[in-house]
Amino acid sequence: MREKNYGYSRQYIDEDDINAVVEVLKSNFLTTGPKVAEFEEAIKRYLGVQYAVCVSSGTASLHIAAICLLEKGDKVLTTPNSFLATSNAIVYAQAVPIFVDVDAQANIDLNLCEAMLKKDNTIKAIFAVDFAGNMVDPKGLSYLSEKYGVKILEDCAHSLGASFGAHKAGDCSFCDVATLSFHPVKSITSAEGGCIVTNSEAIAKKASILRNHGIVRNSSEFIYNDDNPLYFEMQDLGFNYRLSDVHSALGLSQLKKIDFFLTTRRKLAQNYDKVFDNTSIRPLYKNASSSYHLYVIRVNFKELGKKRADIMKSLKSKGIMLQTHYIPINAQPFYQKMGYNPLSTPKALEYYNECLSIPLYVGLEDNEQEFIIDAIKSEILY
Ligand SMILES: *Cc1c(COP(=O)(O)O)cnc(C)c1O
Repeated sequence: MREKNYGYSRQYIDEDDINAVVEVLKSNFLTTGPKVAEFEEAIKRYLGVQYAVCVSSGTASLHIAAICLLEKGDKVLTTPNSFLATSNAIVYAQAVPIFVDVDAQANIDLNLCEAMLKKDNTIKAIFAVDFAGNMVDPKGLSYLSEKYGVKILEDCAHSLGASFGAHKAGDCSFCDVATLSFHPVKSITSAEGGCIVTNSEAIAKKASILRNHGIVRNSSEFIYNDDNPLYFEMQDLGFNYRLSDVHSALGLSQLKKIDFFLTTRRKLAQNYDKVFDNTSIRPLYKNASSSYHLYVIRVNFKELGKKRADIMKSLKSKGIMLQTHYIPINAQPFYQKMGYNPLSTPKALEYYNECLSIPLYVGLEDNEQEFIIDAIKSEILY
């Protein structure tokens, strides 16, 4: 038996998933066959959106969405507390990220966004991230988009399955585009994969052309004439960001289990909540409607008199791998070279210095969670 290791997250694969993939391997299409369209239909139904365009990764979905929403030089408000791909997408599109500090849940602070929008009417968009599966306030985002005319992208890499009142993460009821990731640590997985969801026909059309090299095959849309029956036109500079049928079959099979995944994650989160209640270990938030991509605790390591790195090392020796989500993006050398500075977002920096993501995933057994809780308590409680 393999040595037990408890990461902050991992995939949950069952026999149905395996059979779904094997079925595709025995079929005629490994890529761009019926499974992609089936997966897209299922995503549309789940979210209640009009268009879903699957692509090869969450990063690819952000890249394409950024091209669809932004022009060169556009200023975009975004969060330093995310995976790099969120702001990288803005840079890919030759636009300019502006990092806004975070609120108490480590999500982009919408009050600070409004202060910036009041001062600078050339800001074009907000790229918000539902950090750890806890949604950014939809009312706040739609207020800003209506009052200041900014476009809204919701990065739902963490939040597929989450809700906020009547709004679901990625339902496009308060944003122009939402992006999903199906990396193994996320709500559902297709191994690698992502999706652009929108209610805009124009964005969906552009996204589906860009994912396949910018190629147009519908003759009524050709710019030139040619009687070659196989004639096609490249009308834009696109990419090969297609999702394969193999990946789509896995994603489709996983989506069928999302309610079970969410219930399990929320139950594990509640177990942690109960244990940490009234202790010096502070859960980042408690929210029964979160998708709980991550379970983040905040600890004042100075008060504790221990270094976070030492705690991480000690727990790692027991097989418990903690993570820090996230190093502020504006602290990365690439961004600092561009003139950004993490000191411009002090709350994100303070949050980073206190955060730890602890194991939370479907398949974590109760007795394993108890072992993890005991180990964390013995290292951290004071
Ligand atoms: C995982 C993630 C992405 C990128 O998704 P990939 O599928 O890994 O490319 C983007 N944004 C956030 C917030 C993520 O966590």
